[in-house]
Amino acid sequence: MRPLASLGRDEARGLTGLLFDLDDTVLTHGLLERAAFGALWDLHDAGLKLVAVTGRPSGWAEVLVRQWPIDGAVTENGAVFVVREGRGARVILDEPRVAGEPSPARDARLEALVAEVRAAMPAIELADDVGGRRSDVAWDIGERAKVPEADVAALARRVVGAGARTTRSSVHLHATFARDDKASGATRFLRERFGEDPGRSLARWAFVGDSANDAACFAAFRTTFGVANVRAFLAKLSVPPRFVARAERGEGFAEIARTLIALRA
Ligand SMILES: [Mg+2]
Repeated sequence: MRPLASLGRDEARGLTGLLFDLDDTVLTHGLLERAAFGALWDLHDAGLKLVAVTGRPSGWAEVLVRQWPIDGAVTENGAVFVVREGRGARVILDEPRVAGEPSPARDARLEALVAEVRAAMPAIELADDVGGRRSDVAWDIGERAKVPEADVAALARRVVGAGARTTRSSVHLHATFARDDKASGATRFLRERFGEDPGRSLARWAFVGDSANDAACFAAFRTTFGVANVRAFLAKLSVPPRFVARAERGEGFAEIARTLIALRA
């Protein structure tokens, strides 16, 4: 990882937009602090398109895209898109079904997995945001709970054993039967929403993140940034971000925004 100061002017000026993780990247321990919210507006005013790429529920993004200066959100680690339309939000699912209608087969498999985990590992609780999810489930490993690493690993093995895919952020361990990860979901979103060629979008959109569920984006996109707390996850990242901020979480996001805006001025 290189310091932000080594980012080149041409690379910064060539960007169309910025993709960013939420938890422990824009949000600081779950809170949208002043510096990060100001940075979103500054990036928006500087002409960069903005898309959140998060493990959080699509139900949360339906509110965010109405209220924040962003162009959309790729949620549930790539599976469900939410776009701003006028003053509203539209949900785009990764399969031909109507937003809001559950997929019976998928939900039954996830329900069975949740029941299995509850029976085998009763101390581990579902995340408190599962009601807003359409495609996955998540267990709290670091938000309100502090689950020991060995138990997180055992939970992940159980998810994989059930035939699901798993990924983890700084706060949750996810299970899903959906196809996409954050990188494939983000490039698919950029094609559907902005008509971006997937190969081109990997060079024209930058990504900012902090943890293991950002691994696919750190590997796929050319211009990638970590906030300083990404160092805690480096052992779980096959490809680290190319640039790293000095500050952590929302302050680090604001530092990255200032750097980009100054280089593009
Ligand atoms: Mg994160």
